[in-house]
Amino acid sequence: MEPRTCPTCGFPVERRVWDVDRELLIPCRCRCSTLEARRSECFPVPEMASQTFAADDGKFGQDVVEKCRKYADKLPGLHSGLLLFGPPDSGKTFLSCCIANAALERGMRVLMRSMPWVLSRRYGDVADTIEELGQAELLVLDDLGAERATDYGREIVYSVIDTRYQSRRPTVISTNLTRTELAAPDDMACRRTYSRVLEMCLPLEVDTGRRRSTRERYADMAKEFGW
Ligand SMILES: [Zn+2]
Repeated sequence: MEPRTCPTCGFPVERRVWDVDRELLIPCRCRCSTLEARRSECFPVPEMASQTFAADDGKFGQDVVEKCRKYADKLPGLHSGLLLFGPPDSGKTFLSCCIANAALERGMRVLMRSMPWVLSRRYGDVADTIEELGQAELLVLDDLGAERATDYGREIVYSVIDTRYQSRRPTVISTNLTRTELAAPDDMACRRTYSRVLEMCLPLEVDTGRRRSTRERYADMAKEFGW
């Protein structure tokens, strides 16, 4: 009996096992189905799976895209992460998705989550969430800074960051915080978190000047409504 292979990726969809004295074939995941399962685990929104370096239309700053691409090319061999900072809507989430997709293609287990998502976990689930985020081979965290409103939020975020720091696994973080807010936050708990982030991640400013105008945004909405 030959194990069957996947018509798409050519990898086996069965593997041989020995049961006492006879050979059995049991189902297993081929490369593309593993990748598919990891993609859906990685992204909270399925559309994020299509945001790749290949889909970059060149309108973002080439320099910053190139740096992110080079970073992703070095995975999975890196301990250090990236801190993408810059104004809202400047391409940070797009770049984060590109890096996550490239890492998935390279066979890594990746999780992409936003800080507001982490903070919205039920109290009883928080410990498990922190552990799960700590175990990802690459963690991509969107919207650092959203936790500043409460003591509870600040503590959770510190735990997530510190767990990543201890694990020496890479973390890609994006934030709308400015250089000053990152370097000298007025709050002690935030200071502790951001100094750890700056220890484990190389800051990269993302201000591609591609922010959409309100007019463009409204035009898209009107189109969506069929007006
Ligand atoms: Zn396959």
